[in-house]
Amino acid sequence: MSKLRFKAVAAASNRKPVEVKKPGRKTSEYYGENVFNQKAMIKYLSKETYKAIQNAIENGETVNRNLAEHVAAGMRMWALENGATHYTHWFQPLTDGTAEKHDAFIEHDGNGGLIEEFSGKLLAQQEPDASSFPSGGLRNTFEARGYSAWDPSSPAFIMGDTLCIPTIFISYTGESLDYKTPLLKSITAVDKAASDVVRYFNEDVTKCYSYLGWEQEYFLVDEDLYAARPDLALTGRTLMSHESSKNQQLEDHYFGSIPERVQKFMEDLEYESYALGIPVKTRHNEVAPNQFELAPIYEECNLANDHNLLVMSLMDKVARRHSFRVLFHEKPFKGINGSGKHNNWSLGTNTGINLLSPGKDQIENLRFITFVVNILAAVHKNNALLKASISSATNAHRLGANEAPPAIISVFLGTQVSDILDKFEKSSVKDAIVVDAKKQIKLGVGQIPEILLDNTDRNRTSPFAFTGNRFEFRAVGSSANCASAMTALNASVAEQLRVFKAEVDELINKGKSKEEALYEVLKKYIKESRPIRFNGNGYSEEWKAEAKTRDLDCETSVPVIFDSYTSKQSIKTFTGILSEVELHARNEVKWETYTKKLQIESRVLGDLALNHIIPVAIRYQSLLITNVAKLKEISDDYKTLGAEQLRLIEKVSTHVNAINAKVHEMLDARKAANNIESEREKAVAYHDSVAPYLDEIRYHIDKLELIVDNEMWPLPKYRELLFVR
Ligand code: ADP
Ligand code: MG
Repeated sequence: MSKLRFKAVAAASNRKPVEVKKPGRKTSEYYGENVFNQKAMIKYLSKETYKAIQNAIENGETVNRNLAEHVAAGMRMWALENGATHYTHWFQPLTDGTAEKHDAFIEHDGNGGLIEEFSGKLLAQQEPDASSFPSGGLRNTFEARGYSAWDPSSPAFIMGDTLCIPTIFISYTGESLDYKTPLLKSITAVDKAASDVVRYFNEDVTKCYSYLGWEQEYFLVDEDLYAARPDLALTGRTLMSHESSKNQQLEDHYFGSIPERVQKFMEDLEYESYALGIPVKTRHNEVAPNQFELAPIYEECNLANDHNLLVMSLMDKVARRHSFRVLFHEKPFKGINGSGKHNNWSLGTNTGINLLSPGKDQIENLRFITFVVNILAAVHKNNALLKASISSATNAHRLGANEAPPAIISVFLGTQVSDILDKFEKSSVKDAIVVDAKKQIKLGVGQIPEILLDNTDRNRTSPFAFTGNRFEFRAVGSSANCASAMTALNASVAEQLRVFKAEVDELINKGKSKEEALYEVLKKYIKESRPIRFNGNGYSEEWKAEAKTRDLDCETSVPVIFDSYTSKQSIKTFTGILSEVELHARNEVKWETYTKKLQIESRVLGDLALNHIIPVAIRYQSLLITNVAKLKEISDDYKTLGAEQLRLIEKVSTHVNAINAKVHEMLDARKAANNIESEREKAVAYHDSVAPYLDEIRYHIDKLELIVDNEMWPLPKYRELLFVR
């Protein structure tokens, strides 16, 4: 066996679980101890400062310099007492992951020594050299300034020795250069729009929250095996390897008992997560071998998203401690399930109502129908945009593939909610709405059985499913920043609710009763948004054909999908959240990223094919040739005796020649694409003329893997990557 592969397999199979230092306290006792949360604020801030900052957080008001000074002083004291020596603004540029630049608290004290300092100015705003972050042309290098500005709605925390302050990241001219800024704006937009609508039913509501509960799927691979796979290390996925004879067909991994080494990793991760105030709750084996899932209790959308990013970087760190590498790529291995990140999303009020929960009385049920129907309408109108929001070079491998939602957005409501909407649509105002003596609205459709709703039928094939008291956006990729999907969803729903409110108010102004007006508009929406509803099998070929006739967006080319961001509807949807200029700039970044990811994959595959695979195949072929030559020496009948060898010699040549030819064709395709000026056209060229070679070359390499002597094969095989631990 190839030396490197042999050593890696041996190291991985001998590895022992790493013992984890337990906190020795109940989770509730140390939960959030590394967070400057309300408890810490009460202790380290004056009463006035605490009140003022809470008020600013609650009402989204800007924090003035004076208040920032006071908060900074308390935060500094808390951080120093908890062992922090450095601080950083922690932000989410348009790359994968987060960014940070650490500064020590130290300043000269004027007497030859040092003191620890941290001012309100440093807390509130910084100016990281932004020229190396993607901006899509919003920031030329000579005007490289970008600002990071404190987001007080997400609490500061300590990681290692560093105080991390969640911030937005914007350009000198005010355009957003990150994921957080538009997310925060979309949260405000949906708050305003939903509050206005919910007041038809509950006049005391003054604020609406969007909630996010993410479910993070991931793979773990032993670090030695990972290191022996340059494709995994450089691209996050395996660009070659034949399927293992056993993979997930026995369905013995899902919810199976967690391997001990992995269990230790999970414990370690959970301790760190709890200390950072992240309420991680669920852990289990996923469908594919070596695939797992982690889910917290849902939180307010912005905080939940920060927590997801934080958990992803914690996972990366903790995995290394346990000699694992964590893979967030949506499709690290061909032929087995990929990883997604279901985004469970709902809306709630400051009075404690979940707007997606069917209620106990008629008025609550009309409210429920109002929100469900408006979400349907929003998803229908913006189905192309929502798909664009989850599209990427990496997620493309998962969408449309067998085990994941197709590249078409539809909504699964389940039979009960579907029936209710169907009845609602058909019944007339008179028999559907009765206002009784207590001024309650009664719907002819009757009560919605609550308990049954908790058990809504599960449809694993739907990209957007109603699951009892929330919608589950399942098409989100495991490596994605959830903010992309959540911004698009919040924006779509906000815009839809604004349109709805305007239509209802217009009817009321024309003399209709509130109930009649609500009823009339909802009925119209149910009819109009019917094409987005689909309860059948989303993986079937029939659905793809059917979706076309329903005029849903069926585009599968990722660079072209991004065009939806700048459609007329999208520009309207993003009013007040992202300007047309920002939308165009962000698309430039998306196309550039798409191209670069494919370029890297194509280069890595070319290198591996020429330097790892072909030489080994030829060496094996030489053995066969020597064998045949020797047979010839001992027998005239060598062609019969060496029939299999001769067949293999020919096969190896066929594959080697095909690989070589295709690698060079791919190189030419890349060169041609690289010469294209426009980022969009370049990405399209990579999609259309470079990407197909990745599959074609892989096909021949995987065939060789089946032929070539196992002892010689240089790269760990799937059966080793996925089953040795
Ligand atoms: P599943 O059965 O889909 O695997 P779970 O029941 O474990 O999922 O829940 C998935 C996620 O949904 C969790 O993060 C959970 O907290 C979240 N969730 C539950 N209710 C809501 C809600 N109303 N809004 C948003 N997220 C929610
Ligand atoms: Mg789920």
